[in-house]
Amino acid sequence: MPRLSSLALARATLDRATERRRDPDWVAALWADPRARAVPVLAGKVPVSDDLTSLVYVGPAVLDSLAVVGAGAGTPDDPAGGADPAASAGERYFLGLDSDDVPYFAVALAGDPGDPDLDALLGGPAAVKVGWAGLREVGGTLPDRDAGVVVHAVALVNWHAAHQHCARCGARTRPTDGGHVRRCPDCETQHFPRTDPAIIVLVTDADDRCLLGRQGSWPVGRFSTLAGFVEPGEPLEHAVAREVHEETGIDVVDAEYAGSQPWPFPSSLMLGFFARAISTDIKVDEEEIVEARWLSRADLRAAVESGDLLLPGEVSIARRLIETWYGSPLSGSW
Ligand SMILES: [Zn+2]
Repeated sequence: MPRLSSLALARATLDRATERRRDPDWVAALWADPRARAVPVLAGKVPVSDDLTSLVYVGPAVLDSLAVVGAGAGTPDDPAGGADPAASAGERYFLGLDSDDVPYFAVALAGDPGDPDLDALLGGPAAVKVGWAGLREVGGTLPDRDAGVVVHAVALVNWHAAHQHCARCGARTRPTDGGHVRRCPDCETQHFPRTDPAIIVLVTDADDRCLLGRQGSWPVGRFSTLAGFVEPGEPLEHAVAREVHEETGIDVVDAEYAGSQPWPFPSSLMLGFFARAISTDIKVDEEEIVEARWLSRADLRAAVESGDLLLPGEVSIARRLIETWYGSPLSGSW
């Protein structure tokens, strides 16, 4: 099988400047750069044009003036500012530089999309109508740079929001390294952003049929490839075989890596595989997977065209695994 290419959420173009972002003065100077662009993240959503093709950046000066972001919030090494110390709202994180050395930041906001004060910061005289949208909606419609900015911003904001305190001693931690580390002021432990690896696999049998499953929480007709989190101490190949066997009773071999993309809902990294089944009798686990089917290409085409089977969304790696096996794009999705 060919490697997956052009995955919607794997299109980042910025230079993360990992060496230089350790210098808080350098990061602070970038925030003061009049060209700096910041993307506010609110409940996993970012501001976009209403046709979903443009990410709407906000100037640092506008964000600094907003009470909700903590009255300036100090430097990245002194994030508390005037904000609630129990929340990450107001913290800003350096994302990287574009090819013209324009700096990009993410800023964590608190509140609800639709709050008039928050909407006001997106407004102004621009002719473009702006709203809040999540990655599932805009991951495939934004240009490469902006898709990468949003994936990075949302993943980082999600991690900071859930990791405000030291896992060793419980003290409140502070972001450093432009927001790519949190340091404990009491015990000095450094905490690094967490990414949770998950395998996702398209299984085929000797007749080149593919195996798709339906989770119990999904409506009838909604199917996808099998997936699951990698456990501690577990190689990826073992995770593929274990998850497929647990969920469907099928034994697989020859797990072949196909590509990856971040999936920050809230912090996964999806690692795509193809694998070959050496058994065909399905026995679903009834917990995660309640229904699984072997489908030939003709079966899949007929089921999709009749509406009996709904495919995963177009930004998902599952969709790309299925289409790569199928040989061309398919229509329709959840
Ligand atoms: Zn500590």
